[in-house]
Amino acid sequence: MPIPPLHPDTQAFLARSPHKLLIDGAWTPAASGATYTSISPSDGSVLAELASAGVEDVDRAVAAARRAFENGWADLLPRERERLLRRWADLIAAHADELAELESLDNGKPIHHTRTIDSRVAANLVYHFAGWPSKMVGYTAPVSIPNHFVYTRREPVGVAGIIIPWNYPLIHGMQKVSPALACGNTVILKPAQLASLPLLRLGELALEAGLPPGVFNVITGRGSVIGQAMAEHPGINKIQVTGSTAVGRSVIRASAGNLKRLALELGSKAPNIIFPDANLDEAIPGAFRAAFGNTGQSCVAGARLFVHVSIFDMVLDTLVTMAKEARIGHALDPDTELGPIVDAVQTKTILDYIQSGIEEGATLVLGGRRLSDGDYGKGFYIEPTIFTDVRDDMVISREEIFGPVLPVYAFETEAEVIARANDTEYGLAAGIWTNDLARAHRVAAGIKAGVVWVNTYDLFDGAAPFGGFKGSGYGRDNGLEVLEAYTEVKSVWIATPEA
Ligand code: NAP
Ligand code: MG
Repeated sequence: MPIPPLHPDTQAFLARSPHKLLIDGAWTPAASGATYTSISPSDGSVLAELASAGVEDVDRAVAAARRAFENGWADLLPRERERLLRRWADLIAAHADELAELESLDNGKPIHHTRTIDSRVAANLVYHFAGWPSKMVGYTAPVSIPNHFVYTRREPVGVAGIIIPWNYPLIHGMQKVSPALACGNTVILKPAQLASLPLLRLGELALEAGLPPGVFNVITGRGSVIGQAMAEHPGINKIQVTGSTAVGRSVIRASAGNLKRLALELGSKAPNIIFPDANLDEAIPGAFRAAFGNTGQSCVAGARLFVHVSIFDMVLDTLVTMAKEARIGHALDPDTELGPIVDAVQTKTILDYIQSGIEEGATLVLGGRRLSDGDYGKGFYIEPTIFTDVRDDMVISREEIFGPVLPVYAFETEAEVIARANDTEYGLAAGIWTNDLARAHRVAAGIKAGVVWVNTYDLFDGAAPFGGFKGSGYGRDNGLEVLEAYTEVKSVWIATPEA
């Protein structure tokens, strides 16, 4: 299908290139004047120039965020913070199509996905957390010391640094920024270079909504420079990162100086388990979407599929048929099911993993190649790839591939599959497909992961906590937990002596 023209607002936004940094309510170039080029992974076309911030720009953003924190944001009436956040959410919802196009252009996620999920979820997250400022309550503590009255207050942490990856920029951005602001913090957001455009547009909409200068700052540029500077910065009180486990470790080290509060959402290798009693009409397409949705570039991708031995051949055949039929193409084509890989580096990494699977003796059942004929040659496309005969100790079983590569394993017993599912350094998410109620609860309890989906997969909501066990990090987004993560608790003791 031909690619429809871009929304006029998307065209107008792109035409504002070179894009600047949002610091203190104003758009400003990097102090050094440096820029970088954003490329569409669908066809290699140039999208825009963006400012490449340096350490000096981080300092400016921290100073602005600190002023905004101390000059009123934290002290605004809760109702007023709610009103501003709701206005922002209204604008995000009103511009959802344009935001979806910007994300699809920038990271290559298919437009049907960004339109129906990402841009809408982003608005809903802001609506969800906009309601919290007036509901953040403390409590009275029943201490056993006579003549004292003790109550708790929840106070904002201060300046929050938020660092996100390229694969879900709108959702990751808003699931961290909106609770941070709702709790009275000010924010410096550093999106991934590979997908900064939609966040810059969200910055414009924040100003339009009336967020005061310095409350929400967006700085673009290299993570190893400005992400590192944020993690080290004594003026930042809290860092919330989604990214690789390597970056998580680096942020922990860099944050030691001022004992920053950290929340880290890192890598994953999620098990997805189909039991023989499952409704296979739902389980097989569910497993397909879990593995190949967003071309496998998802932290929660169902990247290890365990299928009971009694249904293994049938499930495998159906998956192979679905993969053969999947439409691979340009992210802006409404018919596209699998879009491109985000860039050349990631493409090479995925192809290297495929090669390692072959060399370690796994059976390549389908795919395995980069597509290069015709228009595919302009972008970064890899066929959906399925392996069988994969041992649990092979590299493709243990490391996060972050691409359209699915090892399928046979299992015999529930105890065996729980042990194999947990045999990983990660613990972010898992899927279970079964119609046996007791089994669903047993396995959900047995799997060491922060999210377990039963007879569904990959659903998110501001109300449900999200984050990892083990090497997938610590701290949570969403749920009540994220509100705790963006506040400090203070106990106030009042002496109430006898008259
Ligand atoms: P990444 O390389 O870890 O990058 C994540 C972010 O950290 C980017 O904004 C990056 O900046 C920045 N960064 C790089 N070096 C840094 C440093 N030394 N200090 C501070 N920040 C730094 O991850 P990615 O390749 O973008 O995304 C894929 C990874 O993210 C996968 O491992 C995936 O599992 C993980 N992920 C996890 C979740 C989750 O919820 N747990 C969700 C999505 C993705 P630049 O890239 O712009 O240089
Ligand atoms: Mg990009």
